[in-house]
Amino acid sequence: EMSNERNKRILLELAKLPENSRCADCGAPEPDWASYKLGVFVCLNCSGIHRSLSSRVKSIRLDFWEDDLVERPEGPVDSS
Ligand SMILES: [Zn+2]
Repeated sequence: EMSNERNKRILLELAKLPENSRCADCGAPEPDWASYKLGVFVCLNCSGIHRSLSSRVKSIRLDFWEDDLVERPEGPVDSS
């Protein structure tokens, strides 16, 4: 099961969208972190702020993303 890799790929695709090309908080380019509670992409600095506010943030490149943390635009994936 490669769902982690698939989820990461989805996140990296989302990060390429124009509305996600800058940190949602400070406007820094190419944010590498995402708050999966708020559904926004933020930079490293702001990810620390979000974490201190108890929002859940993860690195879109480094962390493990479980299936239920990623909204798949194409809907449920056939796992057969
Ligand atoms: Zn920021």
